[in-house]
This record gives sequence, C-alpha cells and structure tokens, in this order.
Amino acid sequence: MIRERFAPSPTGLLHLGHAYSALMAWDAVRANNGKFLLRIEDIDLPRCKPEFEQAIYQDLEWLGLSWPTPVMRQSMRLAAYDSALQKLIDLGLCYPCKCTRKDIAQAMSAPQEGVDVGPDGPIYPQTCKGRPMSEYSATDAIRLDMEKAVSTIKGHLSYTEIGGVYPETIRVKPETLVSYCGDIVLARKDMGTSYHLSVVVDDADQNITHVTRGQDLASATPIHRQLQALLNLSTPTYRHHKLIRDENGKRLAKRDDARAIRSYRENGVTPQGIREMVGLGLNLIQ
Ligand code: GLU
Repeated sequence: MIRERFAPSPTGLLHLGHAYSALMAWDAVRANNGKFLLRIEDIDLPRCKPEFEQAIYQDLEWLGLSWPTPVMRQSMRLAAYDSALQKLIDLGLCYPCKCTRKDIAQAMSAPQEGVDVGPDGPIYPQTCKGRPMSEYSATDAIRLDMEKAVSTIKGHLSYTEIGGVYPETIRVKPETLVSYCGDIVLARKDMGTSYHLSVVVDDADQNITHVTRGQDLASATPIHRQLQALLNLSTPTYRHHKLIRDENGKRLAKRDDARAIRSYRENGVTPQGIREMVGLGLNLIQ
C-alpha cells in the first residue's frame, strides 16, 4: 500500500504550487488505494502562525482532500529529532558551529553565482569543523561533517525518482554531497533540529513510501538519502514535480497572495478550476 504525505509549513497561505503537490499525491493515493497523510512542518516557530495552519486545513478540505487526524506536527516531535541527532553525534559525525550568517559570508572569498551555493545556500566554509562536541554551548548550531559522513557509508546510495517521464535510479555521489551540499546544519541553535533532519525522521516514522514535492527540493534529496543511510531509516520513492510559475516565469512564493488558493476561491474559481490551472485536468478517480 502506498503512503504519501503533504508537508506544508504554516508560514503563509497555500498557493497553486502547493495545490499541485497535494493533488498529485492525493491522486496517486486514490489510484492505488493508498493513504494520504498531512504533516505540519512548524519547527520554525517564529515564522509559523496558527491562522496559516487553520488555512491549510480549510484550503485542503475545500480542494476535496481528507486525511487521518490528529495530524503530525513537527513542533511536537522534538524528542524524536533529538534522539536521531544524538545517534549522529555518537557516530562522531557532528560538530558545534558558532558562525553567524555574517561570519559565513565574510569567510567566503568572493562567492560566484552557482559555484558556492548548494541546497541550503552558501556552502559552509568549515570554520568550526573539528570542534569537539564537548565544546557545544546553547548558542551553537550542530553541523554534519559531510566528509566523515560519506566515508562511513559502504557501497553506493541511490533512490528512485519517478517525477520524470520514466522512473530513474539516482545515484548519490559522495563527492557531490561534500562539494555541493557541504556540512549542512542538523540542528539550528533556535530550534534544535533542521528541515533535513526532521523530514527524514518523520517520513520514516509515518512509513511514507512516496514523497511528492516540488523540483526545488530535488537538490536536498541526496542529503536526505545520506541521513537515511546513517540513521538506518527507510527511503521512500521520490516524485519531484515541475514548479508552477507565474506569467513571468518566476516560481510562486508564499508572499504571492494573488496566487493563493484562497484568493482564487474568493474569486469564484472551483476546486476543479484549480486542478485545471495546475495542469491536472479532470479527476476521473472518485
Ligand atoms: N515543508 C516544506 C515546504 O513547505 C516541504 C518539505 C517536503 O515536502 O519535503 O516547503
């Protein structure tokens, strides 16, 4: 049985891109007699708002989706992230980092566009690499030593991608992880976890078999695959879909309220109309 999840962050109103992800996952579940789960990714507490969480439930219901309750909320799962983090610390793969964004920018020598920027932004210049965990203080972030992490893995890592025309096996290249992703943050100082760590722990705990999400997150998937291997977690099949763009080719952002599902709804667009706008056409599976 397939299990899909839609995992929005309540930091703004859902827009057409979210509708596309959620409906695509929903359709796959309906066609395969599977299960659709909702997960609220609210670890970034200062940016998350209860009214956006309520709007997520309302907009998805209006689109015709349903899910089991209670929904998983990341803010309630800090203990699970902490124990995963502790495993990585015990493997000797982590170090505390006291750099601010400004420190990182200053340590980087004239970054060129497209060269020093990975899925999390600028590649960390490893200023704090090698600091022992015994020096950790509450104002530090915790990073993964990617070189050590990849050298721990025996054999090749891969995952299945079904977002293209044909299913593909994607090999995770250790050298790409080191040079393109670098020493990613596992625990931000303000939240004790990070998107990458929480997402792999939650997908495994929810027994997710298929992850449907935008192409913008495809570059983070090798990081997720690496963490799954280190933590002995299951690897779902990934479907990264094209991004919904505005008429100028710019990808939609949460700030773009004109493209919010809610705005279309208020202007008389039907759920079927939203399907057509994102190119999912008729939903023949009822
Ligand atoms: N919470 C993420 C977002 O809203 C999605 C994460 C995922 O699907 O892996 O962009």
